[in-house]
Amino acid sequence: MKTLKIAIQKSGRLNEKSVELLKNCGLNFENYKSSLISPVSNFPLEILFLRDDDIPEYVQDGIADLGIVGENVIEETEVEVSYLQRLGFGKCSLKIAVPNNNNIATLADLNGKAIATTYPVILGKFLKAQGIESDIRTISGSVEISPGLGLSDAICDLVSTGGTLKSNGLKAFADVMSSEAILISSKATESNDLVQELIQRIQSVLRAKE
Ligand code: ATP
Ligand code: ZN
Repeated sequence: MKTLKIAIQKSGRLNEKSVELLKNCGLNFENYKSSLISPVSNFPLEILFLRDDDIPEYVQDGIADLGIVGENVIEETEVEVSYLQRLGFGKCSLKIAVPNNNNIATLADLNGKAIATTYPVILGKFLKAQGIESDIRTISGSVEISPGLGLSDAICDLVSTGGTLKSNGLKAFADVMSSEAILISSKATESNDLVQELIQRIQSVLRAKE
C-alpha cells in the first residue's frame, strides 16, 4: 500500500501536542529538526512539518493525505477537505476586541469602523451575516497593537486567556468563532484503509484521555 503523508505544524502552538498525539498512537519518528519530512519506522506514514497556514491547501490538493491544523486556519483558507476528528487541543476563540475606553457598545456601532485582523475571510462572513459594513484591514501580525497606533478602531484576533488583550488595553467584545485542532483529510483519501486505521488509533488515544 502507498505510504501516507500527514502534515503537522513544524513549530508553534500546535506542534508539541500534534507530535505527542502521533507518538501516543504508537508511531515512531524523529521530531522536526531541519528536514521537512520524517519517516515513521513502524507504519507506512511520513510526517511533513509545515507552517500551519500551508496545511489546508496541501491536504486539499492531495500533497498530504492528512493534516492537523486549527479550525480557524481551515475556515480562513476556504478549502474543501473532510473533517475527520476534533482533537481537543489548541482551543481558542476568534474575537472582536475594542479599546477599554471607546464608544462601541453594540455590533451595529462597528458600521464604518476599521477592524484590523489576520482573518479577513472569517471576519467578512461574520459581519455580512450581521448586516454590518466595516472597513476590514488585513495585517499579517501584531494585530493587538493596531488600535493603540491609531490604525484601527477594533481588532479581530485569536484569544485563549485574554492576557494579550488586557496588556494592550483592549477588551473582548464579540465572539466570531471558537476553534480547536482538527484532523483533516483530502476528500479522496478519507476512505483509505490506512487512514481509517490511523483514525481508530487517534480515537482510542483521545478516549483514554477522557
Ligand atoms: P506558523 O509559523 O506555523 O505559521 P503561527 O504563528 O501562524 O505559526 P501559532 O501562533 O503557532 O501560529 O498558532 C497555531 C494555532 O494555534 C492557531 O491557528 C490556533 O488554531 C491555535 N491557538 C490556540 N490558542 C491560540 C492563541 N492564544 N493565539 C493564537 N493561536 C492560538
Ligand atoms: Zn501561521
